[in-house]
Amino acid sequence: MITIQDLWKDYNGKTALRNVDLEIKEGEIFGLLGPNGSGKSTLMKTIIGMIRPTKGNVRVNGVDPSENDIEVKKMVGFVPESPQLYESLSPKEFFEFIGSVRGIHANSLERVEKLIDAFEIWDDVNSDIGSLSFGMRQKVSIIATLIHNPKVLILDECMNGLDPKSVRVLKEFLNSFSKKGGTVVYSTHVLEVAEKMCDRVAILRKGNVEAVGSVEELRDILKSQSLEDIFFKVTEEEDFEPIIRALEETL
Ligand code: ADP
Ligand code: MG
Repeated sequence: MITIQDLWKDYNGKTALRNVDLEIKEGEIFGLLGPNGSGKSTLMKTIIGMIRPTKGNVRVNGVDPSENDIEVKKMVGFVPESPQLYESLSPKEFFEFIGSVRGIHANSLERVEKLIDAFEIWDDVNSDIGSLSFGMRQKVSIIATLIHNPKVLILDECMNGLDPKSVRVLKEFLNSFSKKGGTVVYSTHVLEVAEKMCDRVAILRKGNVEAVGSVEELRDILKSQSLEDIFFKVTEEEDFEPIIRALEETL
């Protein structure tokens, strides 16, 4: 469903992605795992055509997002790290607005109501988005992303700030979405989430894909028990000592 070949992205000479090769299959829940600044968001934005790669190829269901981002956006739903919502609209008005922008009318209303049910936001559906809790706003952005019935969902750290129940609802939703053939790309720096949810994960470090595989495969390769061990082995988090010493000196 998503093919990435020799992808590079430089921001003003600073390399955020280097030589990324990935194949993400239809129906797969694929995790992008890596510490802050490892390139997860840049990779996601490149997949949907928000960012042009410096070099390399991306195809979403055969379409090149840097040539036809509109076609890609029809197939993909993207929840960014900090979604921009209209504070003075209610969720219901926001969904209607998104529906109209997407050219979707009456037939989507039933879908929207099912989503409102599934994510249990009925109580807040007529309040201003500006007055909603962080978790509730996350749910609103996720529902808005699903209105056009995308084949692919790209979720940038979207479990952050969700209460445990919402996390479960979202996990179950993503499972049934993928069972029906939907593809999910999910970024997180929370290892547990990736471990429980993803069919395969790619571990990113400084814009490099350091390892790709199922959690079991990565375990075999690296002979460690939990994804946390694998994560730290692969990313070999920088020597913390100098940072800690500098902090101690400041204090
Ligand atoms: P992650 O999502 O894994 O935290 P990002 O993709 O946001 O990583 O960032 C990867 C690297 O690219 C970081 O070093 C970050 O500072 C840099 N970066 C991201 N966006 C920009 C931008 N718009 N301009 C310049 N540098 C950026
Ligand atoms: Mg990010």
